Amino acid sequence: MDNAATTSVSEAALAAMLPALRENYGNPSSLHELGQRSSAALEEARESVAWCLGAQPREIYFTSGGTEADNWAIRQLARQGAARGKKHLITTAFEHHAVLHTMARLEKDGFEVTYLDVHEDGLVRPEELEAALRDDTALVSIMLANNEIGTIQPIRALAELCHAHKVPIHTDAVQAVGHIPVNVDELGVDLLSLSGHKFHGPKGVGALYCRRSLRLTPLLEGGAQERNRRPGTENLPGILGMAAALREATEHLEEHMAHVTALRDALLTGIADIPCTRVNGSVEHRLPGNVNVCFEGIEGESLLLRLDLAGICASSGSACTSGSLDPSHVLLAIGLPKEVAHGSLRLSLDAQNTREEVDYTLEQLPRIVQTLRDMSPVWEQMKAEGRC
Ligand SMILES: *Cc1c(COP(=O)(O)O)cnc(C)c1O
Repeated sequence: MDNAATTSVSEAALAAMLPALRENYGNPSSLHELGQRSSAALEEARESVAWCLGAQPREIYFTSGGTEADNWAIRQLARQGAARGKKHLITTAFEHHAVLHTMARLEKDGFEVTYLDVHEDGLVRPEELEAALRDDTALVSIMLANNEIGTIQPIRALAELCHAHKVPIHTDAVQAVGHIPVNVDELGVDLLSLSGHKFHGPKGVGALYCRRSLRLTPLLEGGAQERNRRPGTENLPGILGMAAALREATEHLEEHMAHVTALRDALLTGIADIPCTRVNGSVEHRLPGNVNVCFEGIEGESLLLRLDLAGICASSGSACTSGSLDPSHVLLAIGLPKEVAHGSLRLSLDAQNTREEVDYTLEQLPRIVQTLRDMSPVWEQMKAEGRC
């Protein structure tokens, strides 16, 4: 129940990777036959990834993951903007830290950043983006689907506004790719980040899509790989695994979405029976597999530990921040009070989950929530005050 943190490597991905680790281990830059075979495999993977996104192969650049793709897009577009006197950036308050921390770094370097409100439903309002766009705006970066609450932004409408103002728009689509339809032309975005391990590819590999009309300058210095844009010997096994996983996810998208949505709705219905519980963010504009709820009066961390003892892997907020005791920046951004944000639980489903797993979770969860509430002074007080 924690597929937003990562997923298993699919059989198709593994089958694509193994030859590149065994016999076809050549460096794609080598001129000999072994190298050229790798080079051909690399370009086939690029074509496949491009096809899945409705992009052209030359618009795909392979990276070490979603984090690098986000950093690359934002830093380089910011730098290009600054060279033309544009030092204003726009993003939202609930981006992944790969975006937020890059923005914070740029603020230290003299950029001005506007953080758009995502409101209680976890959605950006296009008119608020329009009001924030300025003549000196260098880049807009707004995620397609949020990793904690799963809300899906109206990217197409946002992209149209950006284009009307001639400002490039980047979207972190790491949680969306492989889970909902993602087509760069339908979305109208100029740059898009994705990561292999979020859709049954391996970890440590991702891609940045960059529209051909934009000039993408390299983030790193080194060799001439990726058409002089991203130096370093290509992670061929990773790239082939990611391409195979994405192809499989794309070909089964509708079937997977229907299965996952049915499981998610069953979870939501069961959870609704637990008193003093709230669902965070819009249910309508949401990833099929995402459930994010707050159980008032309890701590997310203790809930996670007990679920783990029952064999259920879940997360509070995102995997990247758990371990820290700060409440999730995403839940604070949608206006939850700190004490409520502490009691949050994210269950993220995937095509591999079964109805039995959902039923088992619905057997265990209410019992565990009740046990924790019975031990909680906060809960006692809430009951005494008639708040629950
Ligand atoms: C996982 C994730 C990332 C980071 O991707 P990595 O490949 O793990 O670096 C970035 N953005 C979002 C929304 C994510 O969910």
